[in-house]
Amino acid sequence: MRTTGLWIGGEWVPGAEVVPLCNPHTGEVIAHVGWASEAQAEAAVAAAARAFPAYRALPAHRRADILLHVAEALADRREEAARLIAEEAAKPIRLARQEVDRTVQTYRFAAEVARSIYGEAIPMDATPRGEGHVALTRKEPLGVVTAITPFNFPFNLVAHKVGPALATGNTVVVKPAEQTPLSALFLAELFAAAGLPPGVLNIIPGSGARLGRVLTTDERVRCVSFTGSVRVGLAIRAQAGLRRVILELGSNSPLIIDRGFDAAELDRIAAEAAAGAFAYNGQVCISVQRIYVHQEVFARFVDGLAAHATWLQVGHPLAEETDITALINQQAADRLREWLERAVARGARVVCGGTFDGPVMMPTVLTDVPADAELNCEEAFGPVVTVAPFTAWDEAIAQANASKYGLNAGVYTKDLERAWQAAARLECGGVLINQVPTFRLDHMPYGGVKESGAGREGVRYAAEEMMETKLIAFRTG
Ligand code: NAD
Repeated sequence: MRTTGLWIGGEWVPGAEVVPLCNPHTGEVIAHVGWASEAQAEAAVAAAARAFPAYRALPAHRRADILLHVAEALADRREEAARLIAEEAAKPIRLARQEVDRTVQTYRFAAEVARSIYGEAIPMDATPRGEGHVALTRKEPLGVVTAITPFNFPFNLVAHKVGPALATGNTVVVKPAEQTPLSALFLAELFAAAGLPPGVLNIIPGSGARLGRVLTTDERVRCVSFTGSVRVGLAIRAQAGLRRVILELGSNSPLIIDRGFDAAELDRIAAEAAAGAFAYNGQVCISVQRIYVHQEVFARFVDGLAAHATWLQVGHPLAEETDITALINQQAADRLREWLERAVARGARVVCGGTFDGPVMMPTVLTDVPADAELNCEEAFGPVVTVAPFTAWDEAIAQANASKYGLNAGVYTKDLERAWQAAARLECGGVLINQVPTFRLDHMPYGGVKESGAGREGVRYAAEEMMETKLIAFRTG
């Protein structure tokens, strides 16, 4: 059984303490993980700060080549990487492979971004006082970026921070989720082999609560890029002061389904909704959680959704046929059970699922859930979806908007006017028409409004957040 270290300044360093890491599905110990102390987090920040002046001066084509090299090396080691995700996150292997494929794309996009960082020419003669001047803007890296990431996409969500940060000439300290450090550590090897100079990327597993303060308040840190829960996001915002903060937080994504679909179309939509709600046990920030369906097709849709939910196979993450696995820990299952029991006590009807086997929750479809029940108001982050009927389009949009979150929303309709109304009026970062909110390509702008966050990811958009715009003006006469 291996014991992992910390990657600081281009070297493996033993952690201050060693913590066993378990496969959440089997409970087996799969590695012993070195966790960083606060002093080691400071050392990682210091290494990143030391590496910054030389790295920012590295030509863009060299930065791009490093990122491309990592993308191709990861593609070559696809199966090994996927198994790592499957084991530490209990993600079904087919989805783990998809995550690796997406991560390869993310690094490829980052390589493109590295080669295409443009400034602007400012029309100085737009005002009389500007006559006799020319000016341009130059995009400059910020410095040390800290990346604090969640457990659910341990390769790709790290790539969404490391890729744009390195593309734009920043240096990075990654603090992966406690549950999924191995995927992040795997990167160290890939970047070292690609020729990334020591100290440009540092990876320190450990406790978020303990290391968070250093990574968000050390004066050498210029930007904190965080993906995770609202609770932690707010804590980071409160202590980060004036430095740049990018927050990608939770949601309880809505999906609106209009009338006018025939039986076959409705069945396809039900299949897509089931995938959107239950993939990786709903532990996806844009998982479908609340579905609003036109009264005319409500009963048929609910039947279809329940059928697709019931066909999903529970099993070992490494088994090819597995769809559903253990949630990340028993606490997650206990919380969902409580929320379910409270909703049922208030009149919710369980159409399918609703049962648990230890940390496994069966895919669950509910109707008649009170609007203010946790399963409608909070982020479930589990394989559970609520379905409610509507009659007027305005009512559907209002229900979808009745959330403290606003990440992505999905809308199925054949009516162009309704599609546009929804697109314009839904309060969220992204509206997907005739698609589930769970659909994400890695170059799309991505991020939330309200409590779902601040700032945008999607490689080019994250890159913008990680650069300063410097004005350079010349008096010409
Ligand atoms: P989490 O907030 O518990 O942990 C995320 C990271 O924050 C971990 O690395 C953790 O160690 C660290 N952390 C914990 N306390 C900290 C502190 N006080 N200071 C600094 N860092 C601290 O989230 P999780 O359970 O790993 O992931 C699930 C959450 O992530 C869900 O809410 C989900 O919606 C969200 N998420 C959002 C997106 C997005 O792009 N919007 C993507 C994936 C997941």
